[in-house]
Amino acid sequence: MANPLYDSLFAPHRGNSGTFLHLKNGSAITYEAFLLMAGTFANAIRDAGLEPGDRLALQVAKSPQAFAVYAACVSAGVVFLPLNTAYTPAEIEYFLHDSGAKLLLCDDGAAGALAPIAAKTGASLMTLNADGSGSFAQAAKEKSVEFVTVERSGDDLAALLYTSGTTGRSKGAMLTQNNLLSNAQTLVDFWHFTSKDVLLHALPIFHTHGLFVAMNVSLLAGCQVIFLPAFNVDDLVEHLPKSTSMMGVPTFYTRLLDDGRFTGELASHVRLFVSGSAPLLAETHIAFEGRTGHRILERYGMTETNMNTSNPYDGERRAGTVGFPLPGVELRVADPESGKPVATGEIGVIEVRGPNVFVGYWQMPEKTKEEFRDDGFFITGDLGRVDEDGYVHIVGRQKDLIISGGYNIYPKEIELLLDEQDGVLESAVIGVPHPDFGEGVIGLVVPERGRDLAAEEIMAAIDGQIARFKQPKRLVIVDELPRNTMGKVQKNVLREKFGDLLS
Ligand code: ATP
Ligand code: MG
Repeated sequence: MANPLYDSLFAPHRGNSGTFLHLKNGSAITYEAFLLMAGTFANAIRDAGLEPGDRLALQVAKSPQAFAVYAACVSAGVVFLPLNTAYTPAEIEYFLHDSGAKLLLCDDGAAGALAPIAAKTGASLMTLNADGSGSFAQAAKEKSVEFVTVERSGDDLAALLYTSGTTGRSKGAMLTQNNLLSNAQTLVDFWHFTSKDVLLHALPIFHTHGLFVAMNVSLLAGCQVIFLPAFNVDDLVEHLPKSTSMMGVPTFYTRLLDDGRFTGELASHVRLFVSGSAPLLAETHIAFEGRTGHRILERYGMTETNMNTSNPYDGERRAGTVGFPLPGVELRVADPESGKPVATGEIGVIEVRGPNVFVGYWQMPEKTKEEFRDDGFFITGDLGRVDEDGYVHIVGRQKDLIISGGYNIYPKEIELLLDEQDGVLESAVIGVPHPDFGEGVIGLVVPERGRDLAAEEIMAAIDGQIARFKQPKRLVIVDELPRNTMGKVQKNVLREKFGDLLS
């Protein structure tokens, strides 16, 4: 029976005695052992009463077992719904309620707080701990390793993945088997992944980056994965010499560069460093090349679309850009209101179409309709432009656009200028209510380590470099910018905190 995602990612590894996952404690799991475990999990899921199309939610630590739940769901036709480990019980209640999940897997330690919530939303609750123990694992132990893969079509849902909630409440993106598979196939090809690769994996597996980009690609190519429970520089320093590739968020790269142990020698075995999920500063790209000789390959994607663009593998990887549309992905930049394509080089909203693009937001038909054009293009909400050479530049999110006195102001332009100033590590520019202009510009500036910055001096330095109306009305020196788990700057948090600075 056919199940395209299972047949491509998992079934080919039956009987494969090669290593799949290398763990932090030095042990390893073969592909074969992983699939046998997933077989018992699929039986446990079915015996817990889940039928094809039902949702299984899990909020558990990253572990081989947690990842085997994904394989088991694909095999059983159950929709996989991983949740950020940082979410509070109140947030979990929203996701359970919204998704109608039938089963929630969580850590034993969280079960006390989550049991009443699961009961309220009608989900059963079982546990799966970081060490692989728990009531779910126990139930699976008694099951057979044999499981007859449930028939699915490419259009059936494989996952319900909630967006990161950077701009508002998380939305459930419905991803089909084909959405995931087509993108994995494209990326394996485009980034030259083969069974000889060893991927260093320190990302969480509840988000599209660590879950689908990194793991679907690894499975499809048959790589080995150094599967670390979380990100820390010590572990990367230890494991980089054995790796051929790493995928990370920009913070991975800035933290590595901050550490004297990170040298070109340490990275000499690596053939590919990929960055995404948040903008990589051109400065980081350049510093990384200076230190290692490697040009980080930056790509752009989102929960709803998987990956859309990538810098080239062989051609020039251009700092500050996210490269070209991937094969099979159509991308255009349009005027947000009219939807008409803008001229080359002009800023507009990025729209994409392709087999990678999700089928809609879970139980939000109106919202889904609003975010798609009639010809099937998805309106990403990211503002960008395509330069003369075809490279895509992201300039920020539509929701972060500042409109002051009737003028559109793109925060990125001001951030880039602030970042260039002596002693500035990074910055964030936001719009806050202003009595005369509607919104006014505010800049938050983080000094380089050990530097004392004076806001007035920075203001004086940028005066004359950009139009008056774009210049921040206030600059505030801060220790750091608020970021979520994926390294994204939380501008809504900043807007809340500094919202009354100009009123
Ligand atoms: P929400 O949609 O709930 O507000 P989110 O958009 O942060 O949250 P994700 O789907 O995790 O949720 O993130 C996708 C977004 O991340 C993209 O729309 C884009 O704004 C940003 N992004 C991803 N890769 C890059 C990149 N290389 N450069 C700049 N921004 C990026
Ligand atoms: Mg989004």
